[in-house]
This record gives sequence, structure tokens and C-alpha cells, in this order.
Amino acid sequence: MKLQRVLQYAQQLIKDTVEEGDTVVDATAGNGHDTLFLAQLVGDEGQVYAFDVQKSAVDVTLHRLLDNGLEHRALVLHRGHEEVANYVHKPVAAAVFNLGYLPGSDHDIITTPNTTIQAIEDLLKLLKIGGLIVLVIYHGHLGGKEERDAVIEYVSQLPQKYVHVLKYEFLNQQNDPPFVIALEKMKDYPLS
Ligand code: SAM
Repeated sequence: MKLQRVLQYAQQLIKDTVEEGDTVVDATAGNGHDTLFLAQLVGDEGQVYAFDVQKSAVDVTLHRLLDNGLEHRALVLHRGHEEVANYVHKPVAAAVFNLGYLPGSDHDIITTPNTTIQAIEDLLKLLKIGGLIVLVIYHGHLGGKEERDAVIEYVSQLPQKYVHVLKYEFLNQQNDPPFVIALEKMKDYPLS
């Protein structure tokens, strides 16, 4: 298969961007798969900030890091990603979002348009030039389409001189397949 699956593509973008020593953000820690992936990329000098509003997700993520001996590379915060600006004060190389609910957990706890957009806006300010925000957008659940549409509307109006915005999506898959939105910061600009 030549066309990369959506999750593989998202990981490849991150892998191509993150270097040892970088500061990165997992905006939706969940079961901690992305937090671990990022911790493996940043090395001992780097730092992952992982956010989740569910205590159980924070605990699972911490355990996953401990099982892999990488807990010293990550700060796992029981906070919403809309608070990212309160916790991250260094230039960020990459940030990852998996929108939607945590599989195997409460399907009522989902990411929401306003908080997701707030976090993207703040991360755009924190991002280094050449840094990436990668969102995997799940939209099959109740509330998913509203969030998908709000995020697309927000990122579509970002000025291309400053941010390149990409959508990677299979058009003929059934059942609301997830897709990727990636934002690459090209230049600093006066974000309000
Ligand atoms: N990346 C995760 C993994 O590797 O397992 C899956 C993430 S899951 C699709 C979405 C997660 O976002 C859930 O764990 C949910 O609790 C979390 N979430 C919902 N609202 C949030 C918010 N405002 N800030 C941070 N996390 C949030």
C-alpha cells in the first residue's frame, strides 16, 4: 500500500519534525500512546507536556511511561489543553491532538470546539518556526461533526503567509473515517 493510513501519516509528520531536546505537547493524552511516542522522540534532554481532563487517562499515561522507563521525559497534567499557555513556557516543536472520546471509556467525555480552538490558538503562538500541530479528527460520535466543522472553519482562515494548513483524508472510506489536519508555522505573526 503506497498511501499511508491516517494514523501512520500523522506519526510520520511528527517523526520528521521532532528532534532530541525538543519541547512537545500531547494535547489529548488518553491511553498515552502518543505521549510515549513523543517521549521516545525527544530524548532525555527533551520534555513532553501531556494534557487530559480525565484522571484515569492521566494515570494510564503515567503507567505507560513508567513501564517504558520514560516518565522523566514527560509532565502529565490533569488539566484541559485550553490551559496550555499556563503550563508551557518554552518554544514548542510539535503538538498532537486526537479529537473525540477515549475508546473503552466514557463516550460523553469528548473534546469540544471552543477548548480545542483555544488550545490551537495558544499553541500557534508557542510553536517554533517550522513547528507542527497535528490533529487527528474523529467525527463519527455525537458532537463530532460540530467540532470537525468548527476546527475546519477556524484553521481555514489562518493566513497562509504565516501558517500552512493541510488536510489528509481518504474520500471513499465508509463510516466517518478519521482524517488529519496539520498546521506548519512559517513565520511569527501578531496573533491576538
Ligand atoms: N491520544 C490518545 C491515545 O493515545 O490513547 C487518545 C485520545 S482520545 C481520542 C481523546 C482524549 O481527549 C480523551 O482521553 C479525553 O479525556 C481527552 N479530552 C477531552 N477534552 C479535553 C481537554 N479539554 N483537554 C485535554 N484532553 C481532553
